[in-house]
Amino acid sequence: MALLFALNGRKIELSDVDPSMTLLEFLRCHTDLKGTKLGCGEGGCGACVVVASRYDASTDSVEDVSINSCLALLGSLHLRAVTTIEGLGSSKNSAPRCPAKVSGISRVPVWFCTPGMCMSLYGGLKNQQRRVSVDGGKYESGALEQSIQGSLCRCTGYRPIVDVCKSFGSSVDVEDLGLNIFWKDRKDGRMELLPCYDPGDDPKFPEFLKQEIIQRQSAIDSTGTSAMIEHEKWICATSSGHAFGLLKHFQTRSKTSKEVKIVVGNTSAGVYRDWDHSVFIDISRIPELHVVEARSDGIEFGAAVSIAKLIDFLDENFKKAGSGIAKHLRKVASPHVRNAGSVGGNLIMAQKFGFDSDIATVFLGFGATLKLLVSPDKQVIQSMEEFLEGGGGVDDYPSSLLTMIFLPLRSHEAAEFKTYRASPRL
Ligand SMILES: Cc1cc2nc3c(=O)[nH]c(=O)nc-3n(C[C@H](O)[C@H](O)[C@H](O)COP(=O)(O)OP(=O)(O)OC[C@H]3O[C@@H](n4cnc5c(N)ncnc54)[C@H](O)[C@@H]3O)c2cc1C
Repeated sequence: MALLFALNGRKIELSDVDPSMTLLEFLRCHTDLKGTKLGCGEGGCGACVVVASRYDASTDSVEDVSINSCLALLGSLHLRAVTTIEGLGSSKNSAPRCPAKVSGISRVPVWFCTPGMCMSLYGGLKNQQRRVSVDGGKYESGALEQSIQGSLCRCTGYRPIVDVCKSFGSSVDVEDLGLNIFWKDRKDGRMELLPCYDPGDDPKFPEFLKQEIIQRQSAIDSTGTSAMIEHEKWICATSSGHAFGLLKHFQTRSKTSKEVKIVVGNTSAGVYRDWDHSVFIDISRIPELHVVEARSDGIEFGAAVSIAKLIDFLDENFKKAGSGIAKHLRKVASPHVRNAGSVGGNLIMAQKFGFDSDIATVFLGFGATLKLLVSPDKQVIQSMEEFLEGGGGVDDYPSSLLTMIFLPLRSHEAAEFKTYRASPRL
């Protein structure tokens, strides 16, 4: 089955492409869309940011999130819609107004990192639309400022970029923005001409892809077949048991364990630059690994749940008990990495590669427990200590799959749980 996705509303169907190619490489080397840039190639600078959208046929809803295209692999975009800077229109005529506002307010001299900045901002606007009902197109400028956390500005400086964020905000005095300065310079520089933003003008999830997803879903329901791409290098697991079987199969066949990679968001490639794998087992579409459940004694969630999703869930369901954790999780990486990166992937990095993980540290303090599938019919439950030490766990079970994580939140409700993040000053 070919790889199918939408790019700025256009249908892209690829049967002879390597699904482990990054989206950025595909955009820059196989299309004429050159707005998305390669900066650090590690998910750290934001020059490569695009917005990826997913349609959920069961709820008829679309979720749009910003991601780093330098880390996202093509295989993971199957049946998704991708919007690049070109999809937002030009600085003169753009529907979501991010390019127009960025160009007008900040008057950036350089358009290298600016496309990524615009896409980050657009991702932030979509995120706010999802989280709160936005009143009359007014946004929390503070939250928009956070959406550009993962985008570095090398030339102009952040002040005018922050002004752009503020210009979308509800409680902002235009006098604060320095708008007058730039706007008056223009021939048509009347304040009321400042482009305003109407989410109704945003790019829509393409109808052809919606129909495709609905049809494929009903085929799965009636025949039990998979709607996933079939490629020797990229296999989409449909259940934890399936993923475990695949892992076992390829590990026995491979000479080194590095040849096979379980993948969710692939953001660990930004940390370890480990691109060289012969087979990818994609576990990002396994429904049970995305379950998030509020229990009376805490929260249980699947290993493929993204860091951003966990923050949203804690905010909505555990305002008091979970606020300390959510606050700390917001300090992890950038919104783009948090949107794509899973909690399970982060913990496995800590366990397998000794990564200095914030999440592992905080979960250790909270007394989290983990479920690992160690054989087709055997599941073990480990404390964070056991998991991180590998004692009696993953080392003994080299093909194990992290499936669920439990955070005992209720017991901490009364307690003051505070976390601090210390970084070395280089
Ligand atoms: C720029 C940048 C900044 C970052 N900053 C921080 C930070 O400040 N603090 C912090 O704590 N982290 C940070 N991270 C790490 C980030 O949180 C992780 O990269 C992310 O959570 C990994 O999730 P993923 O889904 O992308 O994992 P992937 O890259 O898909 O996988 C990571 C590893 O886990 C394995 N794996 C994944 N899921 C499973 C599973 N269920 N069972 C078994 N094996 C599995 C994979 O085979 C792979 O070896 C940063 C990362 C980047 C790129």
